[in-house]
Amino acid sequence: MKIINTNYINGKFKEIDSRESLTLKNPTTEDEIAQIYLSTPDAMNEAIECASKTFESFSKTSIDERMDILQRIHDELLKQEEALIDLAVLEFGATIKTTRRRTKNAINLFLTIKEELRNYDFIKKDDYSMTVKEGVGVIGVIIPWNANLAHLCGNIAPAIALGCTLVIKPSEFNALETQAFLECLHKAHIPKGVVNVVHGTGERVGEVLTKHPLVNAISFIGSTQTGKKIFENCSKTIKRMTLELGGKSPTILLDDAILQDVIPQVLSIAYSNSGQACHAGSRLLVPKSKLEEVERLLTFNIQKLKIGDPKEEETQIGPMINQTQFNTVQSYIKSGIEDDAKLLCGGLGKPEGFEKGYFVKPTVFICNDETLKIVQEEIFGPVLCVLPYENEQEALAIANNTLFGLSAYIFSNNDTKALEFATHIKSGRVLINTCASKAKNPPFGGMKQSGLGRMGGRYSMDAFCEIKSILF
Ligand code: NAD
Repeated sequence: MKIINTNYINGKFKEIDSRESLTLKNPTTEDEIAQIYLSTPDAMNEAIECASKTFESFSKTSIDERMDILQRIHDELLKQEEALIDLAVLEFGATIKTTRRRTKNAINLFLTIKEELRNYDFIKKDDYSMTVKEGVGVIGVIIPWNANLAHLCGNIAPAIALGCTLVIKPSEFNALETQAFLECLHKAHIPKGVVNVVHGTGERVGEVLTKHPLVNAISFIGSTQTGKKIFENCSKTIKRMTLELGGKSPTILLDDAILQDVIPQVLSIAYSNSGQACHAGSRLLVPKSKLEEVERLLTFNIQKLKIGDPKEEETQIGPMINQTQFNTVQSYIKSGIEDDAKLLCGGLGKPEGFEKGYFVKPTVFICNDETLKIVQEEIFGPVLCVLPYENEQEALAIANNTLFGLSAYIFSNNDTKALEFATHIKSGRVLINTCASKAKNPPFGGMKQSGLGRMGGRYSMDAFCEIKSILF
C-alpha cells in the first residue's frame, strides 16, 4: 500500500503536518491501495503565503519563459502518460479507453495554452486608451475526484500562461494520480512556489483557501452544494470565481431522429464515466408516440453493455469510485422505485456476478412525473430517466425545467430544426447529433446552478485575468 504523506510547497515535497489519514480502496476489487495523510490549516496557510510571495516575481517573467515552462511540463507528463492512465483506472475505476482519451487531452492542454499565449491580447491600444490584461494573482483551485488530471492541467496551464501562482486542493480520492502528476511537475523544473498542492479535506483545508485574503481567485470544480458554500466564503473578500458545478442534462430525441442509430449514443452520453460525469445526459426526452420503440431499443442495447474490470479494453461501465458513491446511487434507485417510476432496466444491488467492487446495474426509469427526486437531482451514477413528451414545445419546457444548465444533447435528422431547438435551451453547451464533438477548445461552463464563468482554451486565460483601462 502506498503512503502519500507529502504536500508540494515552494518546489519541495514537504511532510504533511498531521497523522490523520484516509485509506483509499481500489473500487474494482475493494483492496486497500493507498493511505493519504490529511493536512492541517497551517500547511494551507504556508502554501498560500508562498504563492503570494512568488507571484511578485513570477508575474514579471516573459512570455517566452512561460511558454518554455508549459512545454517542459507537457514533455514530462508525456513521458509518464501510461503510468497516469494506469493510476486513474486503479484509483477511480475509470474505463481504460475513456481514460486514455482524457489523459491525452489533459496533457495536450499545455501545448494548446502555449499556442494561445503566443498571440494573447495582453494589451489593446487605440488613440485614447489602453486595455491591459493582467494575471489575477494567486489562484486557489479545488478539484473533484471524477476528472482529476483534466482539472489539474486545465487550471495550471492557463494560470502559468498569465504569470499567476496557484494553491491547489485536489480531491482526497485521487492522491496517487496527483502524486504522479507532481513528480512530473517537479522534474519540469518550474520556478519554486508557482504551483503548490495541499492534500486534505474540503472542510479543513479547502475552506482556508476560499477565505484567505491573499487568494485573489478561486477556480472550483465540484458539486453545486459545495459550490454554494464556496460562493459564500469567497464573497467575504470578493474573490474572482469560476464555478464548474453539477448537472442534470437533457438528451432530446426529436421526432425524426433515427432511433436505432441514436440509442447507443444516448447510452454512452448517460453512462459516460460510468455515470459519474458532470455532463452526463441523465434525462432522456422522447416523443410519446415513440416511447415503446425507445423502451425496446434501450433494453436491447443495455444488455449489450460490457460492465466489468475498467482495465479491460472492452469494458464500458466500471465501478463507482467508493462505497459512499455506491450507497448514494442505490438510495436514488430506491427513491425512484418508491416514487413509482417504472423500472425498465437495472435496479437495486450489484449486477449479477459482481460480489466485489462498487458496481451498479445500469438503470433506466420511465418517469411521467418531472418533479421526482430522480428526475431533478444529480445522481452521479448510471441511472437514466426517460421523460415522454407530447410536442416540441413541451419537450423544450421539460428540458429547461431544471435548476441546472450544463449540457444538452439533441438528436434529429433535420439540422436546421435541431439548431433552432438548441437556441432555446438554457445550458452552457448543446451538442447536436453527437456525443463527442471534435470542436477545438470551445468554452465550457454552466448556466443557472451549474456554474459561473467559462473555462477551456483561451476562455480559461480570460477567466484568470484582471482587465485594466488606462485612458489618455
Ligand atoms: P464535492 O463538491 O463534494 O467536492 C469537490 C471538492 O471540494 C473536493 O476537493 C472537496 O474536498 C472540496 N470541498 C468540499 N467541501 C468544501 C468546502 N466547504 N470548502 C472548500 N472545498 C470543499 O464534489 P465531488 O463529489 O468531489 O465531485 C462530484 C461533483 O463535481 C458533481 O456534482 C459533478 O457534477 C461536479 N463536477 C463538475 C464539473 C464541471 O465542469 N461542471 C466537472 C467535474 C465534476
